[in-house]
Amino acid sequence: AERVGTEPSVFTRILRGEIPSEIVLQTDDVFVIRDIAPQAPVHLLVVPKTDAYRDVTELAAADPKLLASMVEVARTAAEQAGAADFRLVFNTGAGAGQTVFHVHAHVLAAGRRHADGA
Ligand code: 5GP
Repeated sequence: AERVGTEPSVFTRILRGEIPSEIVLQTDDVFVIRDIAPQAPVHLLVVPKTDAYRDVTELAAADPKLLASMVEVARTAAEQAGAADFRLVFNTGAGAGQTVFHVHAHVLAAGRRHADGA
């Protein structure tokens, strides 16, 4: 079959259990996984369960409360990973390195490494 623009994102497929990735934290609206290619000792991805928004500018315009929920979950997930302080990065647009067009925040920190290395 031809690939079309509406196929599920990698994050939707993880949420559905079609691609293995441990969900380290979730709320009704947001879930957190470890990045498969970590760029820091702690590198988490905070992802809305909805795939309705391609990037943070769309999300902020349409549902600022969901964006605030992502920030709150980032804080909780960073603390759970042993990081009090963290960077929160939204790559926005292909030219800035965005590769998955299902909005997500990178949580990057120098906290303790996960024992399982993932
Ligand atoms: P972007 O470049 O779009 O801001 O970030 C996408 C991120 O998703 C990348 O850092 C990439 O390593 C991560 N990623 C892509 N595919 C998978 C996957 O199957 N599992 C996990 N855990 N992370 C993934």
